[in-house]
Amino acid sequence: MKNELVKITSITHATPDVLHIVTERPNGVNFIPGQATEIFLYKDNWENEGRPFTFTGLPKDKHLEFYIKTYPSHNGVTNQLRSLHSGDKLIINDVFGAINYKGEGTFIAGGAGVTPFISILRDLRAKNKLGSNKLIFANKRRTDIILKSEFEDMLKYNFINILSEEKNKEYAHGYITEDFIKENAFSLNNYFYVCGPPGMMDAVENQLKSLNVPKELIIKEAF
Ligand SMILES: Cc1cc2nc3c(=O)[nH]c(=O)nc-3n(C[C@H](O)[C@H](O)[C@H](O)COP(=O)(O)OP(=O)(O)OC[C@H]3O[C@@H](n4cnc5c(N)ncnc54)[C@H](O)[C@@H]3O)c2cc1C
Repeated sequence: MKNELVKITSITHATPDVLHIVTERPNGVNFIPGQATEIFLYKDNWENEGRPFTFTGLPKDKHLEFYIKTYPSHNGVTNQLRSLHSGDKLIINDVFGAINYKGEGTFIAGGAGVTPFISILRDLRAKNKLGSNKLIFANKRRTDIILKSEFEDMLKYNFINILSEEKNKEYAHGYITEDFIKENAFSLNNYFYVCGPPGMMDAVENQLKSLNVPKELIIKEAF
């Protein structure tokens, strides 16, 4: 698949910074939950600026769905996306991605790093195979939590939030630590799926190493 033009059918805010974009799905766009594509704006002077974004719907859906964190403080692709409307077009390119589901374990996400896990967990739910998978989701504030209600419904007490910039009774406060992982992981002997910004990824990888989690059980992608 190369340079498919797709029409946006809906574009809304999932959180103050995150857009939920639904597009048409051209024939021949196939993906495994966890995979991403390269998206380009269909706009003069932007057509060479591709950025990777993850499919968050299910492989059998009739549409494509994305959750995209935008960075309005500089004029990159995600800031440009904020001015698009339904009916506007995007260009999508190859399908790729390092994260795919290998078995039960603990998903650790930072912010928009949750996107590969949306499709994976929705797919497991559809197959009735959510099992004891856990999602540890790190954000700055409660309003940044993408798909809060859906994850609560889907995972119940296996959905664990930690907020770095907001204190409340409901959620843990601070950054993910080794102790936090030990207390909340499904097990230290099963898979860990880790996705988030580079700083968070480095910290969590070091914590898992120090908890003696074997390298081959860690499946990761830096955003
Ligand atoms: C495989 C993969 C899948 C991904 N899937 C998703 C997804 O589904 N959803 C999602 O939200 N993200 C996803 N990302 C991350 C996403 O690709 C980036 O956030 C996006 O490319 C940023 O594009 P941009 O043009 O707006 O920023 P760029 O201009 O490309 O800047 C990149 C980063 O640098 C920082 N930055 C650069 N310049 C400035 C500045 N002047 N001021 C402030 N910050 C600055 C920003 O933090 C930004 O993240 C994915 C990444 C990968 C590798």
